[in-house]
Amino acid sequence: MNFVRPSKGYTFYGQTTSLCETCLRLVPAKIVFEDNDVFFLKRCAEHGAQKTRIASDVAYYKSCKDWLKPGDRPLVHQSRTEHGCPYDCGLCPDHEQHSCLALIEVNDVCNLTCPVCFAGSSPAHTNQRTLAEIEFMLDTLVESEREPDLVQISGGEPTIHPQIMEILRLAKSKPIRHIMINTNGIRIARDKEFVKQLAELRPGFEVYLQFDSMRRSALENLRGADLRRIREQALANLEEAGISTTLVCVIKKGVNDDEIGEIVRHALTYSCVRGITFQPIQDAGRNEGFDKNTDRMLLTDIRREIGQHSGVFDESDIIPLPCNPDEIAIGYGLRDGTNVTPITRFIPKEEILAASPNTISFEKYPELRRRVFDLMSLSVTGEATKSVLGDLLCCLPQVEVPEDLGYDKVFRVVIVQFLDRFNFCIGAVKRSCIHFVTPQGKIIPFDTYNLFYREGPDKTLREAAHVHA
Ligand code: SF4
Repeated sequence: MNFVRPSKGYTFYGQTTSLCETCLRLVPAKIVFEDNDVFFLKRCAEHGAQKTRIASDVAYYKSCKDWLKPGDRPLVHQSRTEHGCPYDCGLCPDHEQHSCLALIEVNDVCNLTCPVCFAGSSPAHTNQRTLAEIEFMLDTLVESEREPDLVQISGGEPTIHPQIMEILRLAKSKPIRHIMINTNGIRIARDKEFVKQLAELRPGFEVYLQFDSMRRSALENLRGADLRRIREQALANLEEAGISTTLVCVIKKGVNDDEIGEIVRHALTYSCVRGITFQPIQDAGRNEGFDKNTDRMLLTDIRREIGQHSGVFDESDIIPLPCNPDEIAIGYGLRDGTNVTPITRFIPKEEILAASPNTISFEKYPELRRRVFDLMSLSVTGEATKSVLGDLLCCLPQVEVPEDLGYDKVFRVVIVQFLDRFNFCIGAVKRSCIHFVTPQGKIIPFDTYNLFYREGPDKTLREAAHVHA
């Protein structure tokens, strides 16, 4: 009889450092494949073994590393590399990527108390930052980036800050390429005069509108209120004012994951919508009743849903973002009404990476060229002046298209999977390119900020994680 050795039952792919899901201490994590799923197997000396699914598509997970490119550094660092990652945020010199997107929180008061707020905001909070504090935060970012690509004015609910227009005009006075305001849409739905003032901030201004669901039950689960009419009225007002809008959807398994395709198609019925950002829930801040085994949604799950149910992007059109491929995926297209031509489908990966961050011409790709001219109702032999299509993601190449095709012809889906106690990976967090600017003059990755640094200047990461300096 032949002896058969017992099998591990999984493929051991590698190892990283993650967090104990109970005490947040750094722990080793094996990366293993089982069927088409990727898991972290962790062991904490105090809290034992933990097994967490971090991706649901082995081929995509492996392909992320093929999209890596050299990172871009900030011009200055705000902290020193002293204790080792993630104890030195930041940004410390050990960080591998500059701020592609920076958030400035102008208040912590909100007119909602969403059960899933990563900032833990509510009407019970009172803090409204002063213009001087906000200017210091903007200047910290400008010192680090010289010309920041994208700043989001966030909160709390920034639209209820008593000086919100002064804040936005102040941000516009800085050398920032694109400014967004992150909002739940309540004021935009109810105050047309405010929308009129926002319209005056164009170009280079956009609304980042919370839009998680079109169903009452899901909105009540995620936001604690039936916001269907508010969301549609906000969109109607933005459409009327012609303000570029990105919808942002927090996705929770079993709550709104079956609506992803429908939301993409609905977004395309508004000409002001430039795209949608899907965020699987990050287990941070207020995240009531969250169960990692039933509620977690993964980047790969959302990518699959878009591919199977949107009728707009195939799964393969949604590619890892080269500066931070583990956390961000993007499908990028040109739209004609509700029809979208995914640019990412026609340009090979090698050419996207070779051109990044410079410009590539649509002329080089015959099928893309034909579709671009179709979109413009021009003859394919016609001449067109070229301009650069604005791209909010600095690490992808700009695609040079005829000047008649402006930002209003862009449509993108972005999936951003932030790191939390479950999927934290020391390699991925060093590539984080979405950062908070703090009033203390620090620039801190979104992931580590929500995990460790948000609770106040005195509560350091080492204290939170019970790690002794
Ligand atoms: S996450 Fe980045 S900034 Fe923070 S300690 Fe690690 S390398 Fe430094």
